[in-house]
Amino acid sequence: MAKILKGAEVVAALNERIIGQVEALEAQGVHPTLGILRVGERGDDISYERGATKRCEKLGVGVKRIVLPVDVDQETLIATIQEMNQDESIHGVLMFRPLPKHLDEEAACQALDPEKDVDGITDGSMVGVFTGQKKGFPPCTPQACMEILDHFGVDCKGKKAVVVGRSLVVGKPAAMMLLKKNATVTVCHTKTVDMPAVCRDADILIVAAGRAGVVDKEYFAPGQIVVDVGINVNDEGKLCGDVKFEDAEAVVEGVTPVPGGVGTVTTSVLVGHVVEAALRRLEK
Ligand code: NAP
Repeated sequence: MAKILKGAEVVAALNERIIGQVEALEAQGVHPTLGILRVGERGDDISYERGATKRCEKLGVGVKRIVLPVDVDQETLIATIQEMNQDESIHGVLMFRPLPKHLDEEAACQALDPEKDVDGITDGSMVGVFTGQKKGFPPCTPQACMEILDHFGVDCKGKKAVVVGRSLVVGKPAAMMLLKKNATVTVCHTKTVDMPAVCRDADILIVAAGRAGVVDKEYFAPGQIVVDVGINVNDEGKLCGDVKFEDAEAVVEGVTPVPGGVGTVTTSVLVGHVVEAALRRLEK
């Protein structure tokens, strides 16, 4: 039976590190603060905002929340982002997406100062991910995958890593981050031929396809570490991943659960980025 790589363990370790960093910042008169920008009243935005706010409070990080009406115009949105860029009391900004359809989301993302881009949505942050330079921040989800690998002592050096999915928010940055850890990386997508064989050959398998249970027993081999990024709702209305958990559990060495895996770690990664942004500003 595989070891279940629980997110809660990773979160506890991350939180301890963050609390120490916050204390060090406070001692130097800096109160790290997350700016939250929400347009409208979407239920899932509000629920994520509640989770992020709670996590910030628990870790001693401040929150400044700005809510714009759902029919806000582009000019006002950009002006608000620019104000948040200028606001020295804010160290990182989380802007909920998707934005309402009448708004130019790409322009809004690029208006954000990469130094405050704690959710990895600007081109500046992508440059950081692809070059390995300290520019902006990687998206929180692939970073959460790396935190899980690190926490459970998975050494990526020289290992064969396979990423299923090539989105800009998960698959591609995850591949770059694994490369930085000296893994040999293959990225699969809908045009990949014989994906089960490619996946069986992996030492580390990160799955971000967005299809419930698409990765089943055909894809696994003994000794593998499997990280399931997927968040789906199954026919019974329950949350599930892209990996058939029972199939993986029977074969591989370690697998993350859904819920209770990657998603659990993401919020602490976000808060960690806010603290890192405050530390970087102090260094300057
Ligand atoms: P996305 O933009 O829809 O991208 C999915 C990727 O998977 C695409 O590259 C697609 O290939 C590939 N794909 C889809 N079905 C496939 C199949 N049957 N075989 C091989 N490749 C397949 O999704 P995303 O934003 O990356 O998110 C992926 C999953 O992660 C979703 O379930 C999402 O809910 C979840 N997620 C979780 C978190 C978290 O905190 N845990 C955060 C963000 C997202 P093509 O490029 O060829 O179309």
